[in-house]
Amino acid sequence: MSVSLSIIVPCYNEEQNLNKLWERLNKLKKIFKATYDVEIYPIFVDDGSSDETHNIIKGFSQRDEHTSFISFSKNFGKEAAIYAGLEAAITGDYITIIDADLQDPPELLLDMYKMITSEPYDCIATRRTDRKGEPIIRSWFARRFYKIINKFSNVEIVDGARDFRLMTKQMTESVLQVSERNRFSKGIFSWVGYKTKWIEYENLQRNDGSSKWSFFKLTSYAIDGIVAFSTFPLTVAAIIGLFFCFLAFAFIFIIIARTLIFGDPVAGWPSTICILLLVSGVQMFCIGVLGIYISKIYSETKARPIYIAKDKVIKNKIDGGTHE
Ligand code: UDP
Ligand code: MG
Repeated sequence: MSVSLSIIVPCYNEEQNLNKLWERLNKLKKIFKATYDVEIYPIFVDDGSSDETHNIIKGFSQRDEHTSFISFSKNFGKEAAIYAGLEAAITGDYITIIDADLQDPPELLLDMYKMITSEPYDCIATRRTDRKGEPIIRSWFARRFYKIINKFSNVEIVDGARDFRLMTKQMTESVLQVSERNRFSKGIFSWVGYKTKWIEYENLQRNDGSSKWSFFKLTSYAIDGIVAFSTFPLTVAAIIGLFFCFLAFAFIFIIIARTLIFGDPVAGWPSTICILLLVSGVQMFCIGVLGIYISKIYSETKARPIYIAKDKVIKNKIDGGTHE
Protein backbone atom coordinates (compact mmCIF):
# COMPACT_ATOMS: atom_id res chain seq x y z
CA MET A 1 0.00 0.00 0.00
CA SER A 2 1.41 3.39 -0.88
CA VAL A 3 2.33 5.97 1.73
CA SER A 4 -0.36 8.55 2.47
CA LEU A 5 -0.05 12.26 3.09
CA SER A 6 -3.03 14.00 4.69
CA ILE A 7 -3.35 17.71 3.95
CA ILE A 8 -5.54 19.61 6.41
CA VAL A 9 -7.02 22.87 5.16
CA PRO A 10 -8.84 25.07 7.72
CA CYS A 11 -11.27 27.31 5.82
CA TYR A 12 -13.30 30.22 7.07
CA ASN A 13 -15.16 32.08 4.33
CA GLU A 14 -12.62 31.12 1.70
CA GLU A 15 -14.92 30.67 -1.33
CA GLN A 16 -12.68 32.84 -3.54
CA ASN A 17 -9.56 30.78 -2.85
CA LEU A 18 -10.74 27.19 -2.75
CA ASN A 19 -10.92 26.44 -6.47
CA LYS A 20 -7.43 27.78 -7.06
CA LEU A 21 -6.09 25.78 -4.12
CA TRP A 22 -7.89 22.69 -5.41
CA GLU A 23 -6.19 23.04 -8.79
CA ARG A 24 -2.78 23.39 -7.17
CA LEU A 25 -3.43 20.39 -4.92
CA ASN A 26 -4.46 18.26 -7.87
CA LYS A 27 -1.27 19.10 -9.71
CA LEU A 28 0.70 18.32 -6.61
CA LYS A 29 -1.15 15.06 -6.22
CA LYS A 30 0.06 13.84 -9.61
CA ILE A 31 3.65 14.85 -8.91
CA PHE A 32 3.62 13.15 -5.51
CA LYS A 33 2.22 9.96 -7.00
CA ALA A 34 4.75 9.90 -9.82
CA THR A 35 7.82 10.92 -7.79
CA TYR A 36 7.34 9.28 -4.43
CA ASP A 37 4.36 6.93 -4.88
CA VAL A 38 2.57 8.94 -2.22
CA GLU A 39 -1.21 9.24 -2.14
CA ILE A 40 -2.60 12.63 -1.08
CA TYR A 41 -5.66 12.82 1.20
CA PRO A 42 -6.98 16.40 1.45
CA ILE A 43 -9.15 17.20 4.48
CA PHE A 44 -11.07 20.47 4.26
CA VAL A 45 -12.41 21.86 7.51
CA ASP A 46 -15.12 24.50 7.15
CA ASP A 47 -14.99 26.54 10.34
CA GLY A 48 -18.62 27.70 10.27
CA SER A 49 -18.31 29.81 7.12
CA SER A 50 -21.27 31.93 6.05
CA ASP A 51 -20.38 31.87 2.35
CA GLU A 52 -20.31 28.98 -0.15
CA THR A 53 -17.29 27.25 1.47
CA HIS A 54 -19.38 24.33 2.76
CA ASN A 55 -20.88 23.50 -0.64
CA ILE A 56 -17.56 23.89 -2.44
CA ILE A 57 -15.64 21.51 -0.20
CA LYS A 58 -18.54 19.06 -0.18
CA GLY A 59 -18.31 19.11 -3.98
CA PHE A 60 -14.57 18.35 -3.80
CA SER A 61 -15.26 15.40 -1.58
CA GLN A 62 -17.95 14.05 -3.93
CA ARG A 63 -15.63 14.37 -6.91
CA ASP A 64 -12.56 12.80 -5.36
CA GLU A 65 -12.29 9.46 -3.60
CA HIS A 66 -9.58 10.67 -1.23
CA THR A 67 -10.96 14.04 -0.19
CA SER A 68 -12.66 14.46 3.18
CA PHE A 69 -14.52 17.41 4.61
CA ILE A 70 -15.85 18.50 7.98
CA SER A 71 -18.27 21.40 8.43
CA PHE A 72 -18.66 23.01 11.85
CA SER A 73 -21.98 24.13 13.23
CA LYS A 74 -20.50 27.62 13.84
CA ASN A 75 -17.15 29.41 13.85
CA PHE A 76 -14.99 27.68 16.47
CA GLY A 77 -11.69 29.25 15.39
CA LYS A 78 -8.68 28.05 13.45
CA GLU A 79 -7.30 26.11 16.40
CA ALA A 80 -10.46 24.00 16.59
CA ALA A 81 -10.36 23.49 12.82
CA ILE A 82 -6.77 22.24 13.07
CA TYR A 83 -7.74 19.86 15.87
CA ALA A 84 -10.67 18.42 13.90
CA GLY A 85 -8.41 18.02 10.88
CA LEU A 86 -5.73 16.23 12.89
CA GLU A 87 -8.33 13.85 14.32
CA ALA A 88 -9.54 13.00 10.83
CA ALA A 89 -5.99 12.70 9.49
CA ILE A 90 -4.62 10.37 12.10
CA THR A 91 -4.77 7.32 9.86
CA GLY A 92 -2.31 8.98 7.45
CA ASP A 93 1.43 8.33 7.48
CA TYR A 94 2.34 12.01 7.19
CA ILE A 95 0.18 14.94 8.10
CA THR A 96 0.36 18.58 7.09
CA ILE A 97 -1.65 21.75 7.74
CA ILE A 98 -1.98 24.40 5.07
CA ASP A 99 -3.87 27.72 4.86
CA ALA A 100 -6.67 27.99 2.33
CA ASP A 101 -5.56 31.44 1.12
CA LEU A 102 -2.45 30.10 -0.67
CA GLN A 103 -0.10 31.94 1.68
CA ASP A 104 1.54 28.56 2.22
CA PRO A 105 2.75 27.30 -1.17
CA PRO A 106 1.61 23.64 -1.47
CA GLU A 107 4.52 22.88 -3.82
CA LEU A 108 6.93 23.33 -0.91
CA LEU A 109 5.58 20.02 0.39
CA LEU A 110 7.69 18.16 -2.16
CA ASP A 111 10.90 19.42 -0.55
CA MET A 112 9.46 18.98 2.92
CA TYR A 113 8.53 15.39 2.19
CA LYS A 114 11.99 14.67 0.88
CA MET A 115 13.50 16.08 4.06
CA ILE A 116 11.27 14.20 6.48
CA THR A 117 11.88 10.89 4.75
CA SER A 118 15.62 11.22 4.24
CA GLU A 119 16.70 13.15 7.33
CA PRO A 120 16.20 12.24 11.00
CA TYR A 121 13.35 14.66 11.69
CA ASP A 122 9.80 14.13 12.96
CA CYS A 123 8.59 17.46 11.72
CA ILE A 124 9.46 19.97 9.02
CA ALA A 125 8.08 23.35 10.03
CA THR A 126 8.06 26.65 8.19
CA ARG A 127 8.66 30.20 9.26
CA ARG A 128 8.46 33.33 7.21
CA THR A 129 11.47 35.56 6.99
CA ASP A 130 9.60 38.85 6.77
CA ARG A 131 6.20 40.32 7.46
CA LYS A 132 5.79 42.12 4.17
CA GLY A 133 2.28 43.21 3.38
CA GLU A 134 1.21 43.16 7.01
CA PRO A 135 0.08 46.31 8.82
CA ILE A 136 3.04 47.84 10.71
CA ILE A 137 1.23 47.97 14.05
CA ARG A 138 0.29 44.31 13.73
CA SER A 139 3.92 43.33 13.01
CA TRP A 140 5.11 45.37 15.98
CA PHE A 141 2.69 43.68 18.37
CA ALA A 142 3.49 40.28 16.90
CA ARG A 143 7.20 40.81 17.53
CA ARG A 144 6.56 41.94 21.14
CA PHE A 145 4.36 38.90 21.65
CA TYR A 146 7.10 36.46 20.56
CA LYS A 147 9.64 38.25 22.77
CA ILE A 148 7.37 38.07 25.81
CA ILE A 149 6.24 34.49 25.35
CA ASN A 150 9.76 33.19 24.76
CA LYS A 151 11.07 34.95 27.82
CA PHE A 152 8.38 33.77 30.19
CA SER A 153 7.18 30.39 29.01
CA ASN A 154 8.84 27.02 29.11
CA VAL A 155 8.33 26.28 25.43
CA GLU A 156 10.15 27.87 22.54
CA ILE A 157 7.94 29.60 20.02
CA VAL A 158 9.74 30.63 16.89
CA ASP A 159 9.08 34.17 15.64
CA GLY A 160 7.24 34.06 12.33
CA ALA A 161 6.37 30.38 12.69
CA ARG A 162 3.46 29.35 10.47
CA ASP A 163 1.05 26.53 11.13
CA PHE A 164 2.23 25.08 7.80
CA ARG A 165 4.22 22.00 8.82
CA LEU A 166 4.68 18.38 7.88
CA MET A 167 4.58 15.87 10.74
CA THR A 168 4.88 12.17 11.22
CA LYS A 169 1.89 10.16 12.39
CA GLN A 170 3.60 9.61 15.76
CA MET A 171 4.00 13.32 16.42
CA THR A 172 0.41 13.98 15.34
CA GLU A 173 -0.81 11.40 17.84
CA SER A 174 1.09 13.22 20.57
CA VAL A 175 -0.38 16.56 19.55
CA LEU A 176 -3.88 15.05 19.74
CA GLN A 177 -3.17 13.75 23.24
CA VAL A 178 -2.91 17.37 24.35
CA SER A 179 -6.65 17.75 24.40
CA GLU A 180 -6.99 21.08 26.21
CA ARG A 181 -9.73 23.50 25.17
CA ASN A 182 -7.63 26.65 25.13
CA ARG A 183 -5.54 25.51 22.24
CA PHE A 184 -2.43 27.32 21.16
CA SER A 185 -1.00 25.01 18.51
CA LYS A 186 2.32 26.77 18.04
CA GLY A 187 3.03 26.09 21.70
CA ILE A 188 1.63 22.55 21.64
CA PHE A 189 3.80 21.57 18.64
CA SER A 190 6.84 22.73 20.56
CA TRP A 191 5.70 21.25 23.88
CA VAL A 192 5.31 17.69 22.56
CA GLY A 193 9.00 17.66 21.68
CA TYR A 194 10.35 15.61 18.74
CA LYS A 195 12.93 16.85 16.29
CA THR A 196 11.83 19.76 14.16
CA LYS A 197 13.63 21.24 11.20
CA TRP A 198 12.79 24.85 10.35
CA ILE A 199 12.75 26.01 6.79
CA GLU A 200 12.18 29.58 5.72
CA TYR A 201 10.27 31.26 2.96
CA GLU A 202 9.31 34.77 2.07
CA ASN A 203 5.90 35.95 3.13
CA LEU A 204 3.31 35.61 0.38
CA GLN A 205 0.26 37.81 0.10
CA ARG A 206 -3.16 36.29 0.63
CA ASN A 207 -4.63 35.17 -2.72
CA ASP A 208 -8.05 36.77 -2.26
CA GLY A 209 -10.29 38.05 0.52
CA SER A 210 -8.99 39.54 3.75
CA SER A 211 -7.36 38.17 6.87
CA LYS A 212 -9.85 36.50 9.18
CA TRP A 213 -8.05 37.75 12.26
CA SER A 214 -9.21 41.02 13.75
CA PHE A 215 -6.91 42.90 16.10
CA PHE A 216 -9.09 41.85 19.03
CA LYS A 217 -9.01 38.17 17.97
CA LEU A 218 -5.21 38.33 17.69
CA THR A 219 -4.81 39.98 21.10
CA SER A 220 -6.92 37.37 22.81
CA TYR A 221 -4.99 34.67 20.92
CA ALA A 222 -1.75 36.14 22.25
CA ILE A 223 -3.11 36.15 25.82
CA ASP A 224 -4.25 32.53 25.33
CA GLY A 225 -0.74 31.62 24.24
CA ILE A 226 0.94 33.22 27.23
CA VAL A 227 -1.56 31.86 29.75
CA ALA A 228 -1.45 28.35 28.26
CA PHE A 229 2.31 28.02 28.52
CA SER A 230 3.40 30.21 31.39
CA THR A 231 2.40 31.03 34.96
CA PHE A 232 4.88 33.88 35.03
CA PRO A 233 2.20 36.62 35.11
CA LEU A 234 1.00 35.15 38.42
CA THR A 235 4.53 35.36 39.79
CA VAL A 236 4.76 38.98 38.66
CA ALA A 237 1.50 39.73 40.48
CA ALA A 238 2.89 38.17 43.66
CA ILE A 239 6.17 40.08 43.37
CA ILE A 240 4.38 43.41 42.89
CA GLY A 241 2.28 42.61 45.97
CA LEU A 242 5.38 41.90 48.02
CA PHE A 243 7.09 45.06 46.81
CA PHE A 244 4.15 47.20 47.94
CA CYS A 245 4.13 45.49 51.35
CA PHE A 246 7.77 46.41 51.88
CA LEU A 247 7.07 49.94 50.73
CA ALA A 248 4.17 50.20 53.19
CA PHE A 249 6.34 49.00 56.07
CA ALA A 250 9.03 51.52 55.20
CA PHE A 251 6.44 54.35 55.11
CA ILE A 252 4.94 53.30 58.45
CA PHE A 253 8.39 53.36 59.97
CA ILE A 254 9.19 56.80 58.51
CA ILE A 255 5.85 58.29 59.64
CA ILE A 256 6.16 56.94 63.19
CA ALA A 257 9.70 58.27 63.42
CA ARG A 258 8.66 61.65 62.01
CA THR A 259 5.70 61.97 64.40
CA LEU A 260 7.88 61.14 67.39
CA ILE A 261 10.52 63.66 66.40
CA PHE A 262 8.50 66.55 64.90
CA GLY A 263 5.02 66.10 66.38
CA ASP A 264 1.98 65.57 64.15
CA PRO A 265 1.49 68.24 61.51
CA VAL A 266 -1.65 67.20 59.60
CA ALA A 267 -0.75 67.42 55.94
CA GLY A 268 -0.27 65.30 52.87
CA TRP A 269 -3.76 64.26 51.82
CA PRO A 270 -2.89 64.67 48.09
CA SER A 271 -0.08 62.16 48.49
CA THR A 272 -2.49 59.83 50.30
CA ILE A 273 -4.88 59.95 47.37
CA CYS A 274 -2.05 59.24 44.91
CA ILE A 275 -0.89 56.23 46.89
CA LEU A 276 -4.47 55.03 47.25
CA LEU A 277 -5.02 55.23 43.50
CA LEU A 278 -1.75 53.55 42.69
CA VAL A 279 -2.23 50.71 45.11
CA SER A 280 -5.82 50.04 44.11
CA GLY A 281 -4.75 50.12 40.45
CA VAL A 282 -2.08 47.54 41.07
CA GLN A 283 -4.57 45.45 43.02
CA MET A 284 -7.08 45.51 40.19
CA PHE A 285 -4.35 44.56 37.74
CA CYS A 286 -3.28 41.58 39.82
CA ILE A 287 -6.87 40.45 40.33
CA GLY A 288 -7.30 40.74 36.57
CA VAL A 289 -4.30 38.48 35.95
CA LEU A 290 -5.73 35.97 38.41
CA GLY A 291 -9.10 36.29 36.72
CA ILE A 292 -7.67 35.36 33.31
CA TYR A 293 -6.20 32.16 34.73
CA ILE A 294 -9.42 31.34 36.57
CA SER A 295 -11.44 31.87 33.40
CA LYS A 296 -9.18 29.35 31.63
CA ILE A 297 -9.66 26.83 34.46
CA TYR A 298 -13.41 27.48 34.21
CA SER A 299 -13.54 26.73 30.50
CA GLU A 300 -11.32 23.64 30.89
CA THR A 301 -13.48 22.19 33.68
CA LYS A 302 -16.64 22.67 31.67
CA ALA A 303 -14.96 20.31 29.20
CA ARG A 304 -17.09 21.35 26.27
CA PRO A 305 -16.20 19.76 22.95
CA ILE A 306 -13.48 21.60 20.99
CA TYR A 307 -15.77 21.73 17.95
CA ILE A 308 -19.16 20.49 16.78
CA ALA A 309 -19.42 19.06 13.28
CA LYS A 310 -22.77 19.29 11.55
CA ASP A 311 -21.73 17.53 8.35
CA LYS A 312 -18.72 15.43 7.47
CA VAL A 313 -17.36 12.77 5.17
CA ILE A 314 -14.06 11.22 6.20
CA LYS A 315 -12.09 9.08 3.80
CA ASN A 316 -8.92 7.34 4.80
CA LYS A 317 -6.57 4.75 3.47
CA ILE A 318 -7.12 2.22 6.26
CA ASP A 319 -10.50 1.03 5.10
CA GLY A 320 -10.61 3.16 1.97
CA GLY A 321 -14.07 3.89 3.23
CA THR A 322 -16.36 6.76 3.97
CA HIS A 323 -17.87 7.59 7.33
CA GLU A 324 -21.10 9.46 8.12
N1 UDP B 1 -9.32 30.37 9.64
C1 UDP B 1 -10.21 29.49 10.26
N2 UDP B 1 -11.00 29.98 11.28
C2 UDP B 1 -10.93 31.27 11.72
C3 UDP B 1 -9.99 32.14 11.09
C4 UDP B 1 -9.20 31.65 10.06
O1 UDP B 1 -10.30 28.32 9.89
O2 UDP B 1 -11.68 31.63 12.63
C5 UDP B 1 -8.48 29.86 8.52
C6 UDP B 1 -8.54 30.71 7.25
O3 UDP B 1 -9.60 30.31 6.42
C7 UDP B 1 -7.19 30.43 6.62
C8 UDP B 1 -6.28 30.24 7.83
O4 UDP B 1 -7.13 29.92 8.93
O5 UDP B 1 -7.18 29.24 5.84
C9 UDP B 1 -5.45 31.47 8.12
O6 UDP B 1 -6.30 32.58 8.29
P1 UDP B 1 -5.94 34.02 7.75
O7 UDP B 1 -5.38 33.93 6.36
O8 UDP B 1 -7.12 34.89 7.94
O9 UDP B 1 -4.80 34.43 8.76
P2 UDP B 1 -3.45 35.21 8.46
O10 UDP B 1 -2.83 34.56 7.25
O11 UDP B 1 -3.85 36.61 8.23
O12 UDP B 1 -2.64 35.01 9.69
MG1 MG C 1 -3.62 34.13 5.51
